[in-house]
Amino acid sequence: MLDNLGTRFQEIFKKVKGHGKLSEDNIKSALKEVRLSLLEADVNYKVVKEFVNKIKEKAVGEEVITGINPGQQFVKIVNDELVELLGGTNARLTKSAKNPTVIMLAGLQGAGKTTFAAKLAKFLKKKGERPYLVGADVYRPAAMKQLQVLGEQIDVPVHIQEGSKDARGICSDGLNVAKENNATYVILDTAGRLHVDESLMEELKDIKKATRPQEILLVVDAMIGQDAVNLAESFNNSLNIDGVVLTKLDGDTRGGAALSIKAVVGKPIKFIGIGEKIDDIELFHPERLVSRILGMGDVVSLVEKAQEAIDEDDAKSLEEKIKNQSFDLEDFLKQLQNIKKLGPLGGILKMLPGAGQLGDLAPAEKEMKKVEAVIQSMTREERKKPEILKASRKKRIAKGSGVEVSDVNKLLKQFDQMKQVMKMFSNGNFPQMPGMMGG
Ligand code: GDP
Repeated sequence: MLDNLGTRFQEIFKKVKGHGKLSEDNIKSALKEVRLSLLEADVNYKVVKEFVNKIKEKAVGEEVITGINPGQQFVKIVNDELVELLGGTNARLTKSAKNPTVIMLAGLQGAGKTTFAAKLAKFLKKKGERPYLVGADVYRPAAMKQLQVLGEQIDVPVHIQEGSKDARGICSDGLNVAKENNATYVILDTAGRLHVDESLMEELKDIKKATRPQEILLVVDAMIGQDAVNLAESFNNSLNIDGVVLTKLDGDTRGGAALSIKAVVGKPIKFIGIGEKIDDIELFHPERLVSRILGMGDVVSLVEKAQEAIDEDDAKSLEEKIKNQSFDLEDFLKQLQNIKKLGPLGGILKMLPGAGQLGDLAPAEKEMKKVEAVIQSMTREERKKPEILKASRKKRIAKGSGVEVSDVNKLLKQFDQMKQVMKMFSNGNFPQMPGMMGG
């Protein structure tokens, strides 16, 4: 599901370049491609337009967090907006204060209502509820029988009235029987038609009036693409639905419907169907779907962690220090500790695509710990001016931090080299070939 979109997006993210801030130029072609790939995934064009504008608004001028590259930052922005597009926080099923809670299902024939009725009953049963199924699909000949068989499979009682064509009557009777049996939920499986028509809507309005459901869920086949959005709109106009169930998301769908429904109709997707079996039901979690679409969940959590761990003021003052060449071992220690805040090195790197080939990171981690211990054994004064360290002090420091004197010397030498490089950058004197540009 939505795999193509994911692959497209990953290509797009790689191309976002730039330093310091995301500018309109950095993201121009990326935005264009985001737009195209969403349209190709069958997302409603108005939704796409608004979405792309929002991304642009959020991204342009955004400071790129220290330690994160602009592509990763862009991923995070797209991720958050997609979650928002899908309805933000998870929409839950209502539970009324007084039993039973009535859930009415509506939808076209073949959408998967009967299957979903059984799936939902099992889902609720597992949560310790006492569901009751009512089969009022008087239109499709085998529907009631189908529900009865499914009910037996999951051991949930089913109310049907074989031969009856009175959907409204079946529903009110079923509700009464369910009450007598102390049900906590009643699920009404209503009839569909091949297309939306007056008689269907009248029947559904009638059932709504008679049973006063706390929740009307529209069951929609995700495979019908854009039509799902139009369908949801017309059902919503007649019935004022509470949410949508998207079925058959396991199939070869472009998934655009999922991304458009909330934005166009204003009603959240509450469940998804991901297979023909009774357990193939999931509560709809926008973040999870987006993570699946983008295939970049790990990058997103890396950016989140960096946002938490890295104080932008700290990063600014670090930049200043590098510029005026006052970066000392004390600052170095702080940087090491910031990296540690992100978690074990292996964990951080595993989050980056392609980092699997880096191999064992334990030696690098050990080295970091050593360096930290050495710096911590120095006095503040020594950290600021390591050149004052005499042989005897180096010995003491080595002993205090459990390393050899050669390790202390190695660190001091590396730090010196690092300072040389920083000096070069801060003077703007990038290494040049002699004679070039008067250099
Ligand atoms: P109804 O007419 O709306 O009651 O539709 P049914 O519940 O009879 O479902 C129609 C067909 O869709 C059946 O063959 C179901 O097995 C199938 N179906 C329902 N939900 C799903 C789903 O989430 N995934 C897949 N692959 N098939 C489904």
